[in-house]
Amino acid sequence: MSEFHEAIIIGGGPAGLTAGIYLMRAGIDTLLLEKMVSGGTPVNTEHIENYPGFPEGISGRELMNRFTAHAKGLGLAIKEFSEVEGVSFEEGRFLIKTTESSFESIGVIVTTGTEPAKMNIPGESEFLGMGISYCATCDGSFFKNLDVAVIGGGDAAIEEGLSLANIVRKVYVVHRRDALRAQKILQDRAFRNSKMEFLWNKKPVEIGGKGQVEYILVEDTKTGEHSKVEVSGVFVYVGSRPNTSFLGCFADRDDAGFVLTDENLGTKTEGLFIAGDARKKTLRQISTAVGDGALAAVNLERYILEKR
Ligand SMILES: Cc1cc2nc3c(=O)[nH]c(=O)nc-3n(C[C@H](O)[C@H](O)[C@H](O)COP(=O)(O)OP(=O)(O)OC[C@H]3O[C@@H](n4cnc5c(N)ncnc54)[C@H](O)[C@@H]3O)c2cc1C
Repeated sequence: MSEFHEAIIIGGGPAGLTAGIYLMRAGIDTLLLEKMVSGGTPVNTEHIENYPGFPEGISGRELMNRFTAHAKGLGLAIKEFSEVEGVSFEEGRFLIKTTESSFESIGVIVTTGTEPAKMNIPGESEFLGMGISYCATCDGSFFKNLDVAVIGGGDAAIEEGLSLANIVRKVYVVHRRDALRAQKILQDRAFRNSKMEFLWNKKPVEIGGKGQVEYILVEDTKTGEHSKVEVSGVFVYVGSRPNTSFLGCFADRDDAGFVLTDENLGTKTEGLFIAGDARKKTLRQISTAVGDGALAAVNLERYILEKR
């Protein structure tokens, strides 16, 4: 027998926890399933400076602890270490399968976010945990006073590069274009930081070393010339891939896997909503994930009240 709840939220980041807060306040019996621990991606972000209400900034972990405490305080049931492997819809009920058990619900909100995209170059998987990382906050301290490379030119790359600069000797920013995409305030800070060196028009083609990262081979995107940059660590921020494959045929996705939603964050399956980074949208931030979570929850509440 599957455990039944009126609403099931899959994913415990900003979108999922916000949806939980709204559903609990609406009196909907709700369960949140999270594959790791509650909090989502921001748990690994050292300092959040653009979430309204915190003019001095706040650590990502502290912010998400507050989200979790708020949701739990309203009675939201959160099952951690419960990875959803499949969702199906039959006869007006959703069946949600995790690695350990199964659940049934009237409606579902998927808020599973994204995971870092890979560069897919030789050495990347071989040196994972031996110099290759996708999380500066988690692994930066292993590179105290060493030289590292950050790959990418967006917000995440520059934000994480700046936080690494507090620990390491030098941060090479390897970017395939001649200008950054990151917000101007981050760019200004990075250009002022004497520990940051920019390698423009360069793309990584190989990572090498003996048992541990020792260098990264980069190709000049204009001339095709190769050069070696000696580093002990490589932090990769080249985009993200949505965690949506478990949805099978129940939601339409774009080529990259981001779910297509209507203006109410609904999908082609009645009662299935998507909120946060996992859906196709133009800005992936905590503030937009929070807005999505609230909107999806209010629309799911309406759906459940009709079906009750
Ligand atoms: C390095 C970095 C720095 C950032 N800095 C900022 C910043 O300064 N300010 C800002 O506003 N935004 C920042 N962001 C973006 C922000 O983290 C995201 O926009 C936000 O976390 C999206 O929230 P979400 O709830 O959609 O997804 P997430 O926070 O990614 O949460 C998704 C949750 O779903 C869980 N999950 C995934 N698959 C499953 C499954 N199959 N079953 C169960 N659970 C699952 C995950 O474990 C995770 O807890 C940053 C992102 C990165 C990568």
